[in-house]
Amino acid sequence: MLLFTPGPTPTPEILRQAMATPTLHHRTKEFESYFAFCRENLTKMLQMPEVLMLACSGSGAMEASVLTFCKKPLCINSGKFGERFGKIAKAHNIDFVELKNSWDTAPSANDIEDILKQDDKIDSICIQVCESAGGLRHNVEKIAKMAKEINKDIIVIADAITAIGVEPLDTSNIDVLIGGSQKAFMLPPGMAILGLSKRAVEIIENRDVGFYFNLKSELKNQRKNTTAYTSPTTIIIGLAKYFEIANLNMIYKETKARSIATKEALGSLGLKIYPKNPAIAMTTIFNENSPDIRKLLKEKYSLNLAGGQDSLKDSIFRINNMGIIPIYEVLWVVNALELALDELNIRKFEGIANKVFLDKYYGEINRD
Ligand SMILES: *Cc1c(COP(=O)(O)O)cnc(C)c1O
Repeated sequence: MLLFTPGPTPTPEILRQAMATPTLHHRTKEFESYFAFCRENLTKMLQMPEVLMLACSGSGAMEASVLTFCKKPLCINSGKFGERFGKIAKAHNIDFVELKNSWDTAPSANDIEDILKQDDKIDSICIQVCESAGGLRHNVEKIAKMAKEINKDIIVIADAITAIGVEPLDTSNIDVLIGGSQKAFMLPPGMAILGLSKRAVEIIENRDVGFYFNLKSELKNQRKNTTAYTSPTTIIIGLAKYFEIANLNMIYKETKARSIATKEALGSLGLKIYPKNPAIAMTTIFNENSPDIRKLLKEKYSLNLAGGQDSLKDSIFRINNMGIIPIYEVLWVVNALELALDELNIRKFEGIANKVFLDKYYGEINRD
């Protein structure tokens, strides 16, 4: 079965082998050297002065961030994950403002600017770089810059779980950048990452909140290459291997080319891309036959694609584009989709998806 869901993504053999080595105790020099190597590579990758690794899924880092940095956040809700920020605030009795959007539409920087100008109690913005519910890309860079111009002390929390390792990110106006092990890093679920700005570090040092998600005690420990509680040792060893083998510029280039080519290939089959501003991380197709298409792909072509959530449950399907993906696997995905459309009497098979994909993909790869 080919796993093509936008998280978890498949773990390549070389990372699985690294994680198959005997368990290391987390309070040892051997493990600390893996931890230090990951810290160094993450800060370089995110271009942020400090980073934390937490043993939890991505939502744990979202909760830790809201708890530590927000007294009155503006939560941008353009889907399931944006909605989660508001739910976390509510669970902790933190007052919040929500900007709710249709899942295919990104709010403009102006929409957000108006809200910030109306309410000077807002001290933080919580937003997804890519809102994975619909595969929508927010213009986080522009929004963060605008927000800092209005209020230089505002804290910008960007959930980049489906953006880190996908594309180079401009983090110059971002204070907290959230990542997770199971998306573009291609590791098992269970570890979250927090990239931190200088100001975020200052706040952490002055706000001693929470217990398991107490970032002050994590920061104190992680600066010494250890963690407050047991580290997710196996995942960190996998991450060290990722940094050993990954050529990030190459990954960004191939991911972008794959994303463009997949979207074009599916477009050539008459399939409709759902979001108005699609992210690179995944291809989201709006189609009323989504459940039948997914069922056929799984049963006949051994291909696991993701459906939608909530009201989009049966009307979209999502194809992963994160990580290091062999080109022949993506070719199989677009080809199997074309075959499935024929079998469901939606469109006659002509072998066009593969051709369009290859033309576009190598056009992008061979450019300059
Ligand atoms: C996957 C994902 C998360 C994290 O979800 P967990 O299930 O807690 O790992 C958060 N935000 C976005 C945008 C995601 O895609």
